[in-house]
Amino acid sequence: MKNIITDDETVVRVAARDPQQVLSGANTATDSVVTKVGTTGVQAIEPLVMVTHSGRTAFHTQCSPERADEITEQIDETDDETQGTPDAVAEHDPETTRLPIPELPGLDAGVRNVLSGCGWRRPTNPSDHELAGGFLDVDPAAVLEVGRQLRGRGWGDSCHNDVVADAWQTVRSADEETTLVVNAHGTNGDTVLLASAPFEVLDGAAAVVRAADIDRVVVYASTDDERPVETLQTAVDNHPNLEVPLDVVTGPADYRAAEPTMAIESIEGNHRLEARLRPPHLEDVGLHGRPTLVHTPRTLANLSVALRREELPATRVLTLMGDVAAPATIELPESGTISEAVSAVAVEGSFKAACVGGRFGGLTQDLDVAVDPDSLSEAELGTDGTIRVLSADRCIVEFVGRLARFASEENCGRCVPCREGTTQLTELLRDVYDGEYAPGRIEELVRVMETSSICSFGVQAARPARTAIEAFEVEFQAHADGQCPAGSCVEAMEVS
Ligand code: SF4
Repeated sequence: MKNIITDDETVVRVAARDPQQVLSGANTATDSVVTKVGTTGVQAIEPLVMVTHSGRTAFHTQCSPERADEITEQIDETDDETQGTPDAVAEHDPETTRLPIPELPGLDAGVRNVLSGCGWRRPTNPSDHELAGGFLDVDPAAVLEVGRQLRGRGWGDSCHNDVVADAWQTVRSADEETTLVVNAHGTNGDTVLLASAPFEVLDGAAAVVRAADIDRVVVYASTDDERPVETLQTAVDNHPNLEVPLDVVTGPADYRAAEPTMAIESIEGNHRLEARLRPPHLEDVGLHGRPTLVHTPRTLANLSVALRREELPATRVLTLMGDVAAPATIELPESGTISEAVSAVAVEGSFKAACVGGRFGGLTQDLDVAVDPDSLSEAELGTDGTIRVLSADRCIVEFVGRLARFASEENCGRCVPCREGTTQLTELLRDVYDGEYAPGRIEELVRVMETSSICSFGVQAARPARTAIEAFEVEFQAHADGQCPAGSCVEAMEVS
């Protein structure tokens, strides 16, 4: 087992979604050890070149291949890791297996426990993971104990917001073949973990295999996520102790394909993706009719870190996107607030609102809400791990209208409340432009959708509209009166 860092060597790490692009410049003429690591999750600072020597790391942000080449040449000439005017320098334990945190926007936000290896360890190198304490020989009883406190992360997790141990015990007591599906479809936080910390995800899966007596693992991802899937596949090939067969399967990029029962349909090869009625729940009747667990990479990475640290990290991996200079995936303590998350990114223009949750999150201007699932739910916001920032130029009516139309076009069509409800919601929001604002009708429609839809797609689809009407009633009324306060849907109003 060899640590990439030694006292007498200079190590150049390249962190990016496509580090090879930068390495084509950095690798040409240097005496240093040059290596690819995965993304840090903070896109505004990448490609990021980090030069480490004797417990000091110099960070060079937004590096072109040419600049990376210049940096490595200067280091060779002077043997000084801080050459090349770095944007920040961090002092750290020379043997650290965690990304040292410099004063760089986004990277210095919150904490990095689940994300600690992202952008630092070589994602597919088992030695790096082992040095960080990975590949534990875990006792099933200890895993189950953690599972009694661990809650599922993301709408792609069949234990979304619930503790996972009950589902594990149901599957464990089955006398048929059992499956764990690692549902990495569609959510940025999950693809960051696949790309940068795949062993963390696989360790979590291996622990569930033992705790729930699983016979087979399937990793499921979107066809759009080719590179993270390739990284994961290499990590699977390099994993020293996977105890059961593991397959990697990709499915259509459609948003709905991440819903747990539709993920199962997709893995089974069904072209028409429709959600399944529950009960029976997937832990009773899942993949090919057999007991199945569905967990996201975020849930599994949390489990892996909890087993290593012997306590739950109690953090949330969140992705900031929308009207920001560049998206960022960060990690906050559960007591951290939406406000702290938003301060990790540069908002383009002035802040207006945040759409908190997944695609169909809740809209709010109140950022003083903790990011734990109970506080978010109490504030009628979503818990799927994304925060879409909306700037003052955004028209809220247009924003929620587009989401309603997306839902009407992308739902699976299986149940009336969602299929017809999203169509009617789109029309009711469109009617606002014609001067017909009917909040009572919208409210009644939303209530039916939320209480009667088969799956969380339909349950959540009207949340943006419902919460927007609560927080931005004035904007809806203004549109009905022929004005758009943001000035961005004048054309639409002229057409109507
Ligand atoms: S809620 Fe929507 S996506 Fe889910 S089953 Fe009903 S129609 Fe399909």
